[in-house]
Amino acid sequence: MILKSEEEIEKIRTSSLLVGKTLAEVKKNISVGVTPMQLDKIAEEFILDHDAKPGFKGYHGFPASLCVSVNDAVVHGIPNNNPLKNGDIISVDCGVLKDGFFGDSAYTFTVGEVSEEVLKLLEVTKESLYKGISCATAGNRTGDIGHAVQQYCESFGYGVVRELVGHGLGENLHEAPEVPNYGKKGRGTKLQEGLVIAIEPMINLGKKEIKHHADGWTIVTKDGKPSAHFEHTIVIRKEKAEILSSFEYIEQVK
Ligand code: MG
Ligand code: MG
Repeated sequence: MILKSEEEIEKIRTSSLLVGKTLAEVKKNISVGVTPMQLDKIAEEFILDHDAKPGFKGYHGFPASLCVSVNDAVVHGIPNNNPLKNGDIISVDCGVLKDGFFGDSAYTFTVGEVSEEVLKLLEVTKESLYKGISCATAGNRTGDIGHAVQQYCESFGYGVVRELVGHGLGENLHEAPEVPNYGKKGRGTKLQEGLVIAIEPMINLGKKEIKHHADGWTIVTKDGKPSAHFEHTIVIRKEKAEILSSFEYIEQVK
């Protein structure tokens, strides 16, 4: 576990805020008929224009700057040329590397008119992220975060994905500890001041089970129902975690 200095935390904040701004650019360009590949190009140019590098491109051979996961895709979707349709949801995960430090954040967007049932999934998944963050204080454990996310989402009957987890980050995109979205209070790694982690609930409308798509990257729900994903990069503090990424840029876009 690598604890960060205040100087390093500022660099992670800069990268994380750039991710938020990039996701806002993505949102501006989402509409029926647009392809994930087009969104990826827009994001990549935006990141490069801000003296940063796409954090995911080339990571373990990932071919794009964004992970774009549509409908039943949970995470790690490779941007393709299939036009977005009315009623789709798309989870967009983005990482950037600037000045030696990563930022990581994700948001699930709607395309056109989305059903009430799916809008509720998005609302609850985003709220579960903040429930998790509220438990991410020094002295608590990763299990406290996971428990909060799981408890909340399961109360709506949703499936909480087990196989994919949040993580520490900094000079590396993925560092210790793992931060599961399920767990027991008081279990797991103890959180310390200066630890930077990404919390990222991946929540399924249906059952929790997932499978790998034939493309080798995309994770999809086994039952074919939609899945949502929201992620913030945060730093552990004594009283209350500080969120280093931001959804404000995204939510200012109408
Ligand atoms: Mg991410
Ligand atoms: Mg992440």
